[in-house]
Amino acid sequence: MASRGDFHNHSTFSDGVLSPTELIELAYGNGVRVMSLTDHDTTEGLPEAFRAAARHEDFTLIPGIEMSTDVPGSEVHILGHFIDWKDPTFERKLEHLRESRLNRAHLMVEKLGELGKPVTWERVESFAGEGAVGRPHIARALVEAGHVADVNEAFSLYLSRTGPAYVERERLSPSEVVETLNEVHGLATLAHPRELDGLEGLLSDLKAAGLVGMEVYYQDYKPDEVERLRVIAEKFGLIPMGGSDFHGLGGPQQREPGNIPLPDEPIERFLALARQRGVLEKV
Ligand code: AMP
Ligand code: ZN
Ligand code: FE
Ligand code: FE
Repeated sequence: MASRGDFHNHSTFSDGVLSPTELIELAYGNGVRVMSLTDHDTTEGLPEAFRAAARHEDFTLIPGIEMSTDVPGSEVHILGHFIDWKDPTFERKLEHLRESRLNRAHLMVEKLGELGKPVTWERVESFAGEGAVGRPHIARALVEAGHVADVNEAFSLYLSRTGPAYVERERLSPSEVVETLNEVHGLATLAHPRELDGLEGLLSDLKAAGLVGMEVYYQDYKPDEVERLRVIAEKFGLIPMGGSDFHGLGGPQQREPGNIPLPDEPIERFLALARQRGVLEKV
């Protein structure tokens, strides 16, 4: 059975394959009634998402975002929910981050050429569409060119952090991202923490910066992993949140929107906190 809430999803405005409207229809059909669109470094899908959400009286869309942050050796992603997404300073910051994604994608395409696995910029661009360009778009170009069998192989052979075509891009530190989200009244949640080294150290820093949640119910996380993370979340006073991180790209970890075992209790806690902060009414 689907969860009533799903707080982590991607659309064509970043590296997902469904439009915000298609995504919301899929989630609604699955039984989701509280959902967030959390595209990477962009809120440009939100106007369409709100139009689609308005078709269903019993459906709440929470404006969201996923921001990547820089820590040595690994990736830390932070979700922001209930963000004041029309804030001009925030918008400028995001524009700047998207520009650095674009420059970095060009460099990765160059590297692939040098590695004898050429893809054209035109194909990467067409997979990205109007959206914030990311490695999954390059991965799809690699699949199309016949260099790899699927997106997962593109990451494992070339595009992962340790892969030969990887190029760093500009990112903020995790605390800077939490602060940036605070500035626009967002509730910050640490995304997919299972593989993070030094998780508890990171959490004490981020809790001090204003983190309120941690993703505990996520994709293929097993019951014992969920339990380990839930205990850590409680220890730090963080709400154990959940999301499918649906992109529509397939692969063994993919879960459809709502297809995560997120219970009602954390959803209610999260909405209560939003109400207390006065951000729920604005949605
Ligand atoms: P970027 O934002 O360009 O750094 O790309 C990061 C995105 O690539 C993540 O949000 C995931 O959607 C996707 N990704 C990262 N690692 C993998 C992987 N091993 N297989 C498939 N997709 C991945
Ligand atoms: Zn993504
Ligand atoms: Fe992520
Ligand atoms: Fe994501």
